[in-house]
Amino acid sequence: MTQLTSKVGLIVGVANKRSIAWAIAQAASAEGASLILTYAGERLEENVRELAATLPNVTVLPCDVTDDVQIDALFENIQTQHGGLDFMVHGAAYALREDLAAPFSQTSREGFRIALEVSAYSLVALTRRAAPLMAARGGGSIVTLTYLGSDRVFTNYNVMGVAKAALEASVRYLASDLGPQGIRVNAISAGPIKTLAASGVSGFSSILQTYRDRAPLRRTVDTSEVAAAAIFLLGPAGRGITAEVLMVDAGFHAMGV
Ligand code: NAD
Repeated sequence: MTQLTSKVGLIVGVANKRSIAWAIAQAASAEGASLILTYAGERLEENVRELAATLPNVTVLPCDVTDDVQIDALFENIQTQHGGLDFMVHGAAYALREDLAAPFSQTSREGFRIALEVSAYSLVALTRRAAPLMAARGGGSIVTLTYLGSDRVFTNYNVMGVAKAALEASVRYLASDLGPQGIRVNAISAGPIKTLAASGVSGFSSILQTYRDRAPLRRTVDTSEVAAAAIFLLGPAGRGITAEVLMVDAGFHAMGV
């Protein structure tokens, strides 16, 4: 288990032990990486610190992705402590609860702005700061988390689907920008998993049941399966892959009627 030995990784998006980003942090740590974990707001700090304490070589820092001052401080800290960065996992997403229940046409201007800023623009904001630190190490790998609602309509996913479409397009543009510096940018499109973010989507359990009934594997995926795919993309096995959206959804995306 040494695919990430002596690598330094930033993981944004841990809220609790159910977070996909937490499963990725555990897997990356098991592969030998040193990690920086962030928390969004004081309410989540204790959770993240408690989880981080269970892994070796982890630093915990604040990062609300809507706050450029916090983002700058985060990367200055990484530069000072580690002198560079090898990989980054982006698992931040948010939409107003009412926008994940009402008809999509009711989405407010503010709700649209918030969802797109937190869930899509944040990848651009973080990648811009990560790029020079990665270039200093001769390259790097960035993975974000997306959902099939970017491409197809899922009841109540609404503005988050639009944000995921922007996120996936951002992956391709960032991959094109940064490829010449040896920096790869990819997304994992995970099947539905019961997490804090998922609990905001009304009727989420019926989406889970549809996957159990219809996905080729006749089940949903768990966070450890998404983490395994993330390690593949972050580590040497993924070195030829960039600008890709990798489906980790028990095959659901392939199904028609
Ligand atoms: P989660 O609630 O554990 O993670 C979402 C994270 O976003 C939290 O850690 C939260 O603190 C963070 N966040 C929200 N606003 C933020 C802000 N302003 N600044 C910084 N961080 C902020 O849920 P999760 O399901 O693990 O979500 C992780 C990612 O996976 C999200 O992008 C989500 O859309 C995506 N995803 C989830 C599923 C699913 O079914 N759970 C499926 C596909 C993709």
